Amino acid sequence: MQDSSIESRQVELCVPDWRSGFRDAASGSGASVAGVGPTGVAALDPLVTATAAGRTAFYAGCTPERAARVADELTGETIEDAGDPDAVVEHAPDTMGLPVAELAGIDVGRRRVLAGCGWRRPASPSDHDAAGGFVDAAPDEILATADELVGRGWGDWRRDEPVAPDWRRARAGDDGVAVVVNAHGGPADALLLRSVPFEVLEGAELLARAVGADRVVVYASEADERAVERVRSAADAYLYPDAPVDVVTGPSEYRAGEPTMALEAVEGNHRLEARLRHADELPTLNDATALVHSARTLAHLAVAVRTGERPSTRLVTVEGDVESPATVELPETATLDAALDAVQPTGGVKAACVGGRFGGLTDSFDVRVSPDALADADLGTGGRVEVLAEDRCVVAFAGELAAFAAEENCGRCVPCREGATQLRSLLRDVYDGEYDAAGIEELVRAMETSSVCPFGVDAARPTRTAMAAFGAEFSAHADGRCPSGACSTTEDQR
Ligand code: SF4
Repeated sequence: MQDSSIESRQVELCVPDWRSGFRDAASGSGASVAGVGPTGVAALDPLVTATAAGRTAFYAGCTPERAARVADELTGETIEDAGDPDAVVEHAPDTMGLPVAELAGIDVGRRRVLAGCGWRRPASPSDHDAAGGFVDAAPDEILATADELVGRGWGDWRRDEPVAPDWRRARAGDDGVAVVVNAHGGPADALLLRSVPFEVLEGAELLARAVGADRVVVYASEADERAVERVRSAADAYLYPDAPVDVVTGPSEYRAGEPTMALEAVEGNHRLEARLRHADELPTLNDATALVHSARTLAHLAVAVRTGERPSTRLVTVEGDVESPATVELPETATLDAALDAVQPTGGVKAACVGGRFGGLTDSFDVRVSPDALADADLGTGGRVEVLAEDRCVVAFAGELAAFAAEENCGRCVPCREGATQLRSLLRDVYDGEYDAAGIEELVRAMETSSVCPFGVDAARPTRTAMAAFGAEFSAHADGRCPSGACSTTEDQR
C-alpha cells in the first residue's frame, strides 16, 4: 500500500474501495488514505486498517462512522488505541502483504498469492512494484519455474496437469500465440482480479514473454463488474507489458467458464458450445495458438517467479451454509478441515460438496487439498467447498445439481445433454420409490467417459459421490422418508 509519492506520512488508513463513505470519513485525520480491495474473508468486510511504524490495527465490520472515529483518534505518528481495534499486529514496516491478525479467516493458511488483498491498491503499479513485481525474468527462467506449476480450476486448459509442456510447444511453433486468462472459473479468480489484478496480469505477461506471445486476453464474467473494472484499470497502468492486454467479458452462465467456450466468447460467438478437444492439439484463438489458464494459475506463476518458492499453495473458497464465505490460501499439505476453520457454519456441517459446482460430496474432511489427495478421495479440485448444514438433504442436493446440468449444458454432445436429463429423471424416481442404483451408476459412467468437455464429465459426480457416502439416504427416500426432514413431500421434488 506504500506510495513513494507520499513519503512524509506517518499513518496510513486502508479503507474498502467498493463502499462509499469511507474515504470521506477517513480524510482530514492527517493520515494518508488508500482504497483497497476485499481480503477474501467476507466476515471481516468492510475492513479498515490503520498502520504506522510496523503496527497495524484492524477494524472488522467497520462502518464509515467508526472509520471517522478511528481517524479522529489517530494522533501524530502512532496508532495507539485509536478506535478500539479488533486486533493489532506488529510486522516489518515495509511489508507489502496484509499482516496476519488473529481474526477468523485471515489467520488460516499462508497468504502468498492473496498477500496483497486488502492491502495494496488494486490498480496501483507503484504498490505492485514495491511488492517486488514487474520482475525482469528471462524466458528460460520463467519456463523453469513453470515446470513446478499445474493448472488450477476448471477454467484452465490444463486442470491439474503440468502447464510447461504446452508452453514449450507454443514457443517452438510457427504460429502466433495468445495468452488467455480465464477469470470466469470461480470466486477465487474473480477475487484476484478484484484485489490484486497486477499479480494476474504479471503472470500473463511473464507467460507472454516466455513463449513470445503477441497478445494477452483477460476473459471474465460480465457479472463480475468490479473485477472487470479493476483489471481494466490495472491493464491500462501496466508498466512495459510484453504483450498488449484486452479485457473481454462473456455471459455469466456457469458453462461460459469452460476453456473452449471461453475462447468462443472471446471470438464473439454468441452461441456458446464447447469445442472438440484433440489430445495432441492446443486450442486456437482466431488463428493463434491459445494458452488458456485460470487467473489463479497465472497469479501463482507471478509469485513463484518473484519469490523463487514452489507454487505449493491452493486457493479454496468455502461457501454454502456459512455465515459468510471466505477464500483462503492453504499449503497443499493442509486439509479441508483447515479450510472449514475459516468460516462459521450456520447449522453444523453434515457434508460438503468439494471441488466446484460439480464437486464431490463427502462428510470426511481429513483430506489434503493437493490435487492428488482430492482426486484419490474422489473429490473435485476446483477450489470450492460448499458446506451443507445438518438439516440439508444430500439426495435433494444431488437432484438440484442434476437439474442444473440438464438445463445449463450447451447441448453439443449426447452423453451430457441426454445423460443429465436422464439423471434428473432417475433422481426424481427415487422419490417415487424407485432407486435404480445400478442404472444411475451406468449412466454416470457414460457421462464421465464420453462427454466432450469437463461440464459433462463432472456433472454426475455429485450424484455418484453422494450415493457412495450417503447411500442409506437414497434408500430411505425410496421408502418415503427423508432422514434430514428437508424433503417434506414427494411433490416438492418434482
Ligand atoms: S459435455 Fe455438456 S457442456 Fe460440454 S459439450 Fe457436451 S453438452 Fe456441451
